Amino acid sequence: MTRTPLMAGNWKMNLDHLEANHLVQGIAMELKDHHHDYDRCEVVVFPPFTDIRTVQTIVDADELGIKYGAQDVSIHDNGAYTGEISTAMLDKLGCSYVIMGHSERREYHGESDELVGAKARKALDAGFTPVLCCGEALEVRKAGTHVEFVLGQIRAALAGWSAEDVAAIVVAYEPIWAIGTGETATSQDAQEVCGAIRQALREDFGDATADATRILYGGSANPGNIKELMAQADIDGALIGGASLKAESFAEMARFYA
Ligand code: PEP
Repeated sequence: MTRTPLMAGNWKMNLDHLEANHLVQGIAMELKDHHHDYDRCEVVVFPPFTDIRTVQTIVDADELGIKYGAQDVSIHDNGAYTGEISTAMLDKLGCSYVIMGHSERREYHGESDELVGAKARKALDAGFTPVLCCGEALEVRKAGTHVEFVLGQIRAALAGWSAEDVAAIVVAYEPIWAIGTGETATSQDAQEVCGAIRQALREDFGDATADATRILYGGSANPGNIKELMAQADIDGALIGGASLKAESFAEMARFYA
């Protein structure tokens, strides 16, 4: 079973639509100059909602191999939900991925495992690939219960799902203490949890699902550590914050195989 590697850039609340234009063109140029093979590594960016139309326009006009998605989505179809964005709106913008359960949304917006699971369900049913984020805080890591904690998050979000549906999602393991801190989990730390996630998927949903589901690492991933992270058996890519805001570093990471 081969899983296509995935480099995903989470721009968070950075860059207006003009800057987004510049960054997408820059990434595309870097990848083109280095003859990037999109079959060797899928490249996806997650701009703020206000930038997505601009990204769509460039990707379509220049027929770029870069894909894009949204950082969040509503569980509602439409109506009186001030500030929310629906799957139908994202569909019209040509998005193919949606992130849910990022630790920043769990922490600052009180998102529960159940809500995160409902968002993943909504996204999958609407034809997007959900990127389901999980990860432990420093206290949990220090207590040594990180594996149990992360598996609990995933099992709560995916309770009742079919094996086929789970095989279609992407899981992103992002230890909170490594996000934006410059402190990367060692590749062994990252592999320990990503391996445990795959083992849990194997127990709960069977071999085919465990072998098909892509698992990303996130947390200060950068051009200097990406090769070692990607050499781990259960790491299929990275969810990248800071290093995805520079065309050169993000493109270099997408070419980890070179
Ligand atoms: C993230 O928040 O998804 C992330 C991994 O950020 P950074 O790469 O900046 O740690």
